[in-house]
Amino acid sequence: MSIGVWILGDQLSENQSALQSCGDTKNLPIILIESLNHIKIRKYHKQKLVLVWSAMRHFAAELQDKGYAVTYQESEDFITALKTWVTENKITELRVMTPNDKPFLQTIQNLNLSCKIILIPNNQFLWSREEFSEWAKTRKSLLMEDFYRQGRRKFSILMDNNKPVGDKWNFDQENRKPPKGKLNTPSAKWFTPDAITTEVINKVKSLSDDLTYGKVDNFTWGINRQQALEILDWFITYRLPNFGTYQDAMVTGENTLWHALLSPYFNLGLLQPLEVIQAAEQAFYQHQLPLNSVEGFIRQVLGWREYMYGVYHFVEEEYKELNYFNHTQPLPEFFWTGKTEMNCLKQIFQQIENTGYAHHIQRLMVLSNFSLIAGLSPQEVESWFHAVFIDAYDWVMQTNVIGMGLFADGGILASKPYGASANYINKMSDYCQSCVYNHKEKFGENACPFNFFYWHFLYQHREKLQKQGRMSFILKNLDKMSTAELESICQQAEGWHERETN
Ligand SMILES: Cc1cc2nc3c(=O)[nH]c(=O)nc-3n(C[C@H](O)[C@H](O)[C@H](O)COP(=O)(O)OP(=O)(O)OC[C@H]3O[C@@H](n4cnc5c(N)ncnc54)[C@H](O)[C@@H]3O)c2cc1C
Ligand code: SF4
Repeated sequence: MSIGVWILGDQLSENQSALQSCGDTKNLPIILIESLNHIKIRKYHKQKLVLVWSAMRHFAAELQDKGYAVTYQESEDFITALKTWVTENKITELRVMTPNDKPFLQTIQNLNLSCKIILIPNNQFLWSREEFSEWAKTRKSLLMEDFYRQGRRKFSILMDNNKPVGDKWNFDQENRKPPKGKLNTPSAKWFTPDAITTEVINKVKSLSDDLTYGKVDNFTWGINRQQALEILDWFITYRLPNFGTYQDAMVTGENTLWHALLSPYFNLGLLQPLEVIQAAEQAFYQHQLPLNSVEGFIRQVLGWREYMYGVYHFVEEEYKELNYFNHTQPLPEFFWTGKTEMNCLKQIFQQIENTGYAHHIQRLMVLSNFSLIAGLSPQEVESWFHAVFIDAYDWVMQTNVIGMGLFADGGILASKPYGASANYINKMSDYCQSCVYNHKEKFGENACPFNFFYWHFLYQHREKLQKQGRMSFILKNLDKMSTAELESICQQAEGWHERETN
């Protein structure tokens, strides 16, 4: 029997299960494939393509240096490259770690190869799919907070015997400080592209604009495990101490604030969740870092990230098509061009075009929020998110966009829709200060679209929203509105789409 391993582009770890399953096999044949057809399924941010392909090339070189027999193939499709490699290496058993994304599993299952294909259970997450399913099956609702607490116990993170350190599981209340005055944000760690990355940048630049989005000349992301570890170290030293306090803040020109910038590396397998969580925990004990920051960060990785992956594999295939509010408005063209007068959106579109990155609150409370209250089609929005972010993958996008951002799953994941008016954006950012719209006005020529859309959304979906207990307070405010005010709001919201699409 001759075994070979196919390493997918988001499985770039020596600890990944397919490699591990082969033990110390000398000269183990390994293949990595850059497929052009694969990137024709949807648009990708140019920097994402550079990141993935450069990281694959660097990883292949590292494995080669360690004595593996690595084939790195640039190809039109996977099957042609695989067939040639299987024949040339007389492979009888191809091992692949089960992909994170469901569509890719389908791709593997549809391969017609002369050898056996063995899928090795994925070990890139702390909770296996089976463990998550065991946890989820016993519950009435899939509350993230319950899952997170279970994770703290299971992996003994920030625990004092059976109690959470600091006597509280969650310090979120302390992590919502609005940005006021000069913030003295720490710099972020970036890298100058090396020869391999420069070659990939040139390849990506040569691709048709129909396949790609965004700018690439300013690419400064890390591209291998060594650089990912340096970014982790930088984050722990300079950013983690204040991560919590301004976690929800948004400031013009401050694209990253105290955020970790680690998602691209996690999602490629260059960093393992437990090593990152333990590094943060160790810094807490060694340097007495504020608990609200350390707990807040650990909750993102041990809680939200694992939870999103678990839910993605737990729910049915139809999840991606859900549309609880029956929203069908098409995605406005300005999502691609960035040409809008709404300053909050404009700033974030520019940032994404330049870097492929926006932080969580920008994604949730501006981009998704607008898409939700303006009634945009969840599937079109999800597709857009997938195309423009550096860290986008099916497993993380579906749950975050369809579930968390747009509530299109009717509450499988979130306990209420994250809809908000300009009031929230004005409180948590400086965007409204330089906007042509007035964040206080609900309707009229200068009214902020977030306002008339918000109230129109509440009005339109009153019945469904009433079922969410946490919405009753805000619905009372809707009841206080006069009929004339409501009519003006609805007219303006409905007219907006007509104007936008004509
Ligand atoms: C609508 C929407 C779309 C999103 N799309 C993606 C995506 O395509 N890829 C992606 O990795 N994350 C996505 N997220 C989650 C989160 O916004 C990003 O992980 C985070 O902004 C990445 O930046 P960071 O590393 O600086 O994160 P930090 O704010 O510093 O958080 C630390 C880490 O926690 C993890 N994390 C936090 N929240 C989540 C979450 N909700 N889901 C999964 N992981 C989480 C990430 O790995 C992140 O690196 C999305 C969130 C929303 C609301
Ligand atoms: S006024 Fe409205 S559109 Fe303008 S920045 Fe504020 S929330 Fe955004």
